[in-house]
Amino acid sequence: MLITSPPDPSNLESDYVEFRTTQHGGRSLFAARDIPPGTRVHSSSNPFAHVIYKDYRREVCAQCFAYAASDSTPLKVAQSRVWSIKWKPEGCQASTAWFCSEDCKEAWGKDEAGPLQMQMDATLTKAQVASRRKGRKSTNISSFNSAAEITQDAIDQAWRNVDELRPSSNTEGVVDSDPHRNYTSWSHFLRLQNNELANVRERQHILSAHLRIYAFLCNALPKYLLPYIPTTVREVLARDTGNAFGIWDGDRRDEMLGWGVWTSASYFNHSCSPNIRKTRQGRTLHFETSRAVSAGEELCISYVDTDQLVGQRQKDLESSWFFRCGCSRCKLESTVAT
Ligand SMILES: [Zn+2]
Ligand SMILES: [Zn+2]
Repeated sequence: MLITSPPDPSNLESDYVEFRTTQHGGRSLFAARDIPPGTRVHSSSNPFAHVIYKDYRREVCAQCFAYAASDSTPLKVAQSRVWSIKWKPEGCQASTAWFCSEDCKEAWGKDEAGPLQMQMDATLTKAQVASRRKGRKSTNISSFNSAAEITQDAIDQAWRNVDELRPSSNTEGVVDSDPHRNYTSWSHFLRLQNNELANVRERQHILSAHLRIYAFLCNALPKYLLPYIPTTVREVLARDTGNAFGIWDGDRRDEMLGWGVWTSASYFNHSCSPNIRKTRQGRTLHFETSRAVSAGEELCISYVDTDQLVGQRQKDLESSWFFRCGCSRCKLESTVAT
């Protein structure tokens, strides 16, 4: 994943919503007044960071995420399953982005982030091939023997250990190219919940996977980016789990094509009987009331499939969002189940 988006122009200034601290100390969105059903209360226009899975890159428009094999695609394209409009930078054979239309290609090319992402993909692919040829270099990556050893201090130490392997960044000739420059949304992104400790406790293998990603990027990315890698990589990996939304092929959600973080969208809390429905149109997420909402009610989406039974919902929420759902529906269904 790359942080490539310009600032998200969406904000929470709306007549319908207000941002408040909840009873449990978290922050959430509440209805500022009575809202009729079907009212759009918020839009988040551009993911702050996103990834389309490699296997889907020819099938998914790099700009609007339209899926070539979807039911709504014109038959000819849907049969071939791939888009035919592509971007090929000069002198580069390997890297290509695919688009559903010339308009999407043009929009993507105008945005500094698109071509930069392509350049990074090409660099990383080359580096991956090279490291495969060289064989696996073993890195001193920490692992834990028991759950009790997993503390924030131990995780910090593991990052310090792997950081010692980072090549020194020769800043000579380095232009002022802070990747976070002008990107005010980086500070918004940092306000999202950091799930590093909870995630490593849930999935012990994830720490060594993250450290390997870090070590790889330190060696593969252009030198001028080295000063920014330490903070960026760890901060992003600490927040993608629990804050990202899947990029699906359509409302039926048959296939997940990738995922993205829409910073302002992360402020909607979860309920198993949500009053807000989320839809995606191109790169934009829209949030609409699915029923009439009274002033002062918390505005919630559902993070999981609400058709599932209470036990499965709670399991999914605990393992991927690290909380136990205490919504009214869960309370009611748990009482019935016991
Ligand atoms: Zn498109
Ligand atoms: Zn619930």
